[in-house]
Amino acid sequence: MSAAGFVMVRGGGRNTPRLVCERCGEVIDDAGMAGVAHTREDGPVAVRVLCKVNHCLSSPEFRCLPWMELRHFLVYLLHNSGIKTVEQFAEAVEQADMLALTG
Ligand SMILES: [Zn+2]
Repeated sequence: MSAAGFVMVRGGGRNTPRLVCERCGEVIDDAGMAGVAHTREDGPVAVRVLCKVNHCLSSPEFRCLPWMELRHFLVYLLHNSGIKTVEQFAEAVEQADMLALTG
């Protein structure tokens, strides 16, 4: 099974953003139990979100590729998306909590 890493999952009457392993489809609930492999399938470096729970990150097709912990990748992503300070992060968390409550 192959699925996109970033998805919207419908549940409880609303859509919520989730990450899904691109190899097995496992929903990732713990950023410390997943990684991002860097691939060069068609030129520029692409990334694949892969779980550790089902050993997808260490599977033969990905084990030799460079990778980083998902939690580190997400922090880099936030930083490069303009959330660079603890205060900006706290504000974003507060707004996400409001969205989660109001859907
Ligand atoms: Zn997996």
